Amino acid sequence: MARDAVAAGSSDLAREILGKALTPEHTQRPDPDAADAATLYAHLLLIDEGDHVAAGTWAAYAHNACLYLHGRTDERTIAAVLTHARALGAGGDVDDAEELFLVAEDALSTVDHTAARAIIVGVELAEMRHQNALCPSGLELMGDLCTTRADRYGAPDPLAITLLARLGAMYRACGHTNPAETCLQQAAALAATVGDLAAAVGLIAKQHDPYHPDLCAYNLDPSHPIPGVPNLANQIPRRPQRHKDSPAPHDVSSRLPQER
Ligand SMILES: [Zn+2]
Repeated sequence: MARDAVAAGSSDLAREILGKALTPEHTQRPDPDAADAATLYAHLLLIDEGDHVAAGTWAAYAHNACLYLHGRTDERTIAAVLTHARALGAGGDVDDAEELFLVAEDALSTVDHTAARAIIVGVELAEMRHQNALCPSGLELMGDLCTTRADRYGAPDPLAITLLARLGAMYRACGHTNPAETCLQQAAALAATVGDLAAAVGLIAKQHDPYHPDLCAYNLDPSHPIPGVPNLANQIPRRPQRHKDSPAPHDVSSRLPQER
């Protein structure tokens, strides 16, 4: 019922239903329905109310219950772990949050560490580091994720391009204009070769976090090393050159049988 309320766009109602249905007694034993409800409740408490304390309590219960009931690689466990990580990160407990993001990433990487979902968890971790004055390691992780994905799927891969643009936005937030421009220009050039990605890359390039300079690691200590920029430019596909007298690739008329 709470999920129906969320689907219908009423997360207030969903929170109310879940708040009444879940009691402290539920946290005493691992119950599949209560664990499922607790993950959703924690998510809503965090997103809608920013209540990372209550969210953390319910997410911790859901995490432990799901791990016991379903195992580490089950989707329900991964969802609970991620919610728990976000609640801890929102409360400034970056070390414990990082550990849980890595647990989720590891579970998702069981099949393929270049898979989109594992990469996206890594992105969340990189951004959490960046938002918590751990800019060098955030930039480094984002660069590694971008390279890992591009090495596996090629630079015109939409996710690799998006990561490159986000990395550019992160560098710029830290005041590193040159690496920021290098990333954003490469991302724009690659995006131009992939369908309708240019608009999304353009939006990311315009992102601006006015609060970052106040907590930026480089403002606190300019001696931090600046991680290198992934080089995906050499993977930008060239348009095939066509001789002016040869038929266009889609022009099949010359290959059709001639009328007699
Ligand atoms: Zn920074």
